Amino acid sequence: MPKKRAVSAKHAEPSVKLSARGVARLEARHPWVYRSDITEEKDIPAGSVVRVLDQRGKFLGTALYSSSSQIAIRMISHGSVADLPALVAERIRAAIAYRKELVSNTDAYRIVFSEADFLPGLIIDRYNDVLTLQILTQSMDAASVREAVLQTLRDELRPGGIVERVEARIRELEQLPPRQSGLLWGEKSSTEFNMNGVRFHYDGFEGQKTGAFLDQRENYAAAAEYAHGEALDVFCYQGGFALHLINTNALHPAAKCSSVTGVDSSRPALEMAEKNALLNGRELEWIEANAFDLLREYSAANRRYDTIVLDPPAFAKTKRDLEKALGGYKELNLRAMKMLRPGGILVTCCCSFHVSPADFLKVVAAAAQDAHKSLRVVEHRGAAKDHPILLNVPETSYLQCLILSVSN
Ligand code: SAH
Repeated sequence: MPKKRAVSAKHAEPSVKLSARGVARLEARHPWVYRSDITEEKDIPAGSVVRVLDQRGKFLGTALYSSSSQIAIRMISHGSVADLPALVAERIRAAIAYRKELVSNTDAYRIVFSEADFLPGLIIDRYNDVLTLQILTQSMDAASVREAVLQTLRDELRPGGIVERVEARIRELEQLPPRQSGLLWGEKSSTEFNMNGVRFHYDGFEGQKTGAFLDQRENYAAAAEYAHGEALDVFCYQGGFALHLINTNALHPAAKCSSVTGVDSSRPALEMAEKNALLNGRELEWIEANAFDLLREYSAANRRYDTIVLDPPAFAKTKRDLEKALGGYKELNLRAMKMLRPGGILVTCCCSFHVSPADFLKVVAAAAQDAHKSLRVVEHRGAAKDHPILLNVPETSYLQCLILSVSN
């Protein structure tokens, strides 16, 4: 009898029971529940869609289950989910529509940002006609989900190519079979993209993150608004800030520094930065160096600048690194402040989630005290709008960008 079969099928769906603390996390609208807050789970296959229950068996919603991560479940709905691939497709379409409303002056931006787009474990970036995909969880790695992702992206965005970028370490942690990065669809894996009128080369199989630091896009434009004179872009990577400072761009026609020097320890990054400079018909200086050594040397030699950008990698990868990380941020900011001329601009960034906005302000303030300088906060910014921050999920807010002006 069909009715009976439907009921028994429903009961066959795997389920987990949560402790009171786990329930409280969901009630606070956080999508993660740790393994220690799961009180009952039996033989649940890796990557399953599970029904989430409280201690008394009350249904709380549907989650994606990981058999290996400390984050045992990630909520995907506060209701039932009959067809995960269909839900993923619908959410990707919603994420694309959200960007259409909020993103402008670029053909490169993040299309799907995992939990912040209600698609935990899925990251999709667009670089003009090349799309990149990152899969971070067991559930998103299922063949049916992958197929739905590719189909939706092809239908909605008609790209020239879709590239998967694999992080071996993440697959290992999720106990997923090893995979190579590669072209999943189409023919194109490299292209050119445009942000705020500045052009960049893109190679889907090269570089850090998914190729560029898309989260800084709006901060590039903001920095260009205030930058002037001689500029130093420290931790410049492929020239994101540097090229915005030297370019007269569509957004801020007046914004232009007389000279810009970019500093990074990665030679391949600087080679790409130089290619990007040529693409824009600009001349910049690139220096391959350890930023700490270079700043120490330059400040000892009394070098002076009008604009300095500091965009270091995340120093605090875990909470345990926090003290040491704060020391690193303080040193960089102190040296930069000492080198800035009166009226100068400091653009200082922090992409460590473990460093709170209050911590960052405090450490920059301590640097100003030691540098004997008074600075004004012109702007306190975060990631670009295509990297949404989900209220109640602090992990989605990780990037800060302070723009400061040095008083006389
Ligand atoms: N500002 C860049 C992103 C910077 S990411 C942009 O907007 O695109 C951090 C960069 O710091 C990376 O390019 C990395 O190669 C570089 N880096 C890491 N440690 C460094 C060090 N000690 N000295 C100089 N560069 C370093």
